[in-house]
Amino acid sequence: MTEVFHKATLLTSRIVSIRESGKSVGLVPTMGALHEGHLSLVKTSKQQNEYTVVSIFVNPTQFNNRQDLDKYPRMPGKDMEMLAQAGCDIVFLPDEREIYPEPDNRQFNFDGLDRTMEGKFRPGHFNGVAQVVTRLFDIVQPHRAYFGLKDLQQLVIIKKVAKDLHYPVEIVPCPIVREPDGLAMSSRNMLLSEEGRKKAVILSRLLSRAKEMKGNRTPDDVIKFVIHEMNKKPGIELEYFEIIKSSDLTPVISWDAGAEIIGCLAAWVGKIRLIDNINFSL
Ligand code: AMP
Repeated sequence: MTEVFHKATLLTSRIVSIRESGKSVGLVPTMGALHEGHLSLVKTSKQQNEYTVVSIFVNPTQFNNRQDLDKYPRMPGKDMEMLAQAGCDIVFLPDEREIYPEPDNRQFNFDGLDRTMEGKFRPGHFNGVAQVVTRLFDIVQPHRAYFGLKDLQQLVIIKKVAKDLHYPVEIVPCPIVREPDGLAMSSRNMLLSEEGRKKAVILSRLLSRAKEMKGNRTPDDVIKFVIHEMNKKPGIELEYFEIIKSSDLTPVISWDAGAEIIGCLAAWVGKIRLIDNINFSL
């Protein structure tokens, strides 16, 4: 049976008793409208912990655009069914007052990790992410927390926050789960029109082609190629494509940067903004 908590204090008491009995706790933070990508995080947490907690909270402080927040898909009934089916032990469904009893004015220092890519195009986004994730860490006190590599910059920033603030939590990265045609799974995909859904496959296709070019082209050539190809597609607008080191998110000028290299993009498909990335080092 999946236990459901709405109140932070009640959940924390439950977690304290779980921890006191010597059992481990894994946390999977989500904004709901769940799909197989989220469930893969749940599955990994279940393999590594005795208890898995999934939180569902559409966090207003990480949305820099009110319309985006309003139209974000919400489907709690279906989410609960999927989590019960997946064998999730505890679901945390807080309302805004539980997470922010008072306005959260904390400002985090990411040492510039938030100045590029998502942070550049979504000002304040990562500060909001850090606010909610640290609140969730305080409430759930997990041994491990699971984050998808689809949101690579988020993962890198959360790792830094957890380390800087000395949270005793292991941040576990989980691979990107894709649709059969290659589109990275996302709650936002359900907002795409039928036509948009067909067009959206170009994102992952171009990332794969970019990776194939690695053998005989420079990173700069590959960037130019992706920008050029994207600009040719009607109904798709590329916001950025960058080839960076995952360690510090800075751009690489050569493939032998001695670090893990990732190509990251964001693009508008009609009115829906999608992100994706590919690991050039695997
Ligand atoms: P969200 O509900 O979009 O905030 O996502 C919650 C968590 O699921 C984040 O750690 C995401 O990176 C992760 N996630 C979302 N989509 C995918 C995917 N396609 N594959 C793997 N992880 C994902």
